[in-house]
Amino acid sequence: MATNRGELTSYQYRQLRARILAASDVCIVCGHGHATAVDHVHPVSKGGAPLDPANLAPIHGVKGCPVCLRKCNSEKGNRPLSAVVQLVTSVDWFAGP
Ligand SMILES: [Zn+2]
Ligand SMILES: [Zn+2]
Repeated sequence: MATNRGELTSYQYRQLRARILAASDVCIVCGHGHATAVDHVHPVSKGGAPLDPANLAPIHGVKGCPVCLRKCNSEKGNRPLSAVVQLVTSVDWFAGP
């Protein structure tokens, strides 16, 4: 898949990732700690800012979550966070009329 690899592998991005994970390691997808990667809340391919700290959040990377064992980053893929969180939480039957 086509990505802006130049920007995303840059030194600046790695610095940013370290800063995000130092502030919090709570995964945005499953809500557990020990996140090892960061992901864009609003995908860059959909117009999100690639290097804006406000658009980056902790997420479980290739090793997955040690608590619920989900592979949060691959689950999220290129979708906006809202799409993933709707899939993983069972709020539908609360959302009555
Ligand atoms: Zn997770
Ligand atoms: Zn988890």
